[in-house]
Amino acid sequence: MEKLLAVVGVVAVVAIVFVARQLRAADRARRSAEERDRTISSLQRRLEELNEDRRATETVLSSMEEGVVLVGSVGGIRLINAAAERHLQTRPTTLARLQPVAFQDAVRKAAAGRSSVIVEMETGNPSRWLRASAIPVDEDGTVLLVVRDVTEARRLEAVRRDLVANASHELKTPAASIQAAAETIRTAVRDDPAAIPPFAEQLEREAVRLSRIVSDLLDLSRLEAGSDLAEHVSLGRLLQEERERLEQAATERRIALSVRDEPTPSVWGSARDLSLLVRNLVDNAIRYTRPGGRVDVSLSGQGEEVVLSVADTGVGIPTRELPRIFERFYRVDRARSRETGGTGLGLSIVKHVIENHGGTVNVTSELGRGTCFEVRLPAATT
Ligand code: ADP
Repeated sequence: MEKLLAVVGVVAVVAIVFVARQLRAADRARRSAEERDRTISSLQRRLEELNEDRRATETVLSSMEEGVVLVGSVGGIRLINAAAERHLQTRPTTLARLQPVAFQDAVRKAAAGRSSVIVEMETGNPSRWLRASAIPVDEDGTVLLVVRDVTEARRLEAVRRDLVANASHELKTPAASIQAAAETIRTAVRDDPAAIPPFAEQLEREAVRLSRIVSDLLDLSRLEAGSDLAEHVSLGRLLQEERERLEQAATERRIALSVRDEPTPSVWGSARDLSLLVRNLVDNAIRYTRPGGRVDVSLSGQGEEVVLSVADTGVGIPTRELPRIFERFYRVDRARSRETGGTGLGLSIVKHVIENHGGTVNVTSELGRGTCFEVRLPAATT
């Protein structure tokens, strides 16, 4: 019996030890499973974060205006965004296929010299100006190429250069004339005072001309930055305000002026700039019409638009000149423009005011018979 009890005791102890070991093993297994789950979810989180980072990088790269090309150390293209494809008009896979060749050279130079290289060149069809900056980004020779389309910036630069050259030329003529008249007056005061009046008149005329050019240039540069669209403007009222001055100018030149305006909706915009538009168009019509001619100004509402039409029976504009008349300082008849006090900037001002107000202009003309400018401006919606 004792023996039996001893055996049972041993069996019980063995069983307890066994169960305890099993429990410990199960506990270890549970802990390691939990550990594994934790590792998996942390890896998943990291992966999601990486995916999010990748997506964010892709979004940034694809929405950039600048082209981005990442060239690896062995000449493979590791990354290229949509803008780069657009600018380069191709999707190269290796540096050797990158066009234009000048950009390949820039990348190689940047990798070899470990400093940025910038090239600007005209390329493609239709041709555009591209500016590429090759920037070394890694010791191993990886280079980032950033490509920008600078065509518009170069065009604006050229326009500005031309404007400065033209404006200087335009200002030089009256300035020289003023100087000559002043010198003549200075000697005439001593030698021949009776000769002074015509030179004094010349002085005044040219000074007025100079100040007109400066004032038009200032208006133009203000309008290039945009109009201050901030009020309801009644074109009918603007015409009424200008009427007396315009009638006087027409009478002086023996021109019959008629102004016909029906009630029209207002235009959302700048009264100051819209009156420049009205004034320049009607002044031109009067200036380019011979005595005995007519100028008809009419204002009407058509659908969602306000239409201003200025028609004259004047000298007309040759068809081939029509596309150029809105350019700064462009004149069809230089002598007539000068003689009637023109600056060559009136229609440029008109074009900018119309564009700033979201409108359009149409010109029809017949040489020797007359011209009609029709301006359409969107009516204010509220
Ligand atoms: P300008 O001060 O010389 O009149 P604008 O810019 O106002 O300059 O006009 C440009 C040119 O367009 C004028 O020089 C003139 O040759 C032509 N032009 C403008 N309006 C008329 C018109 N109503 N009839 C005939 N020619 C016109």
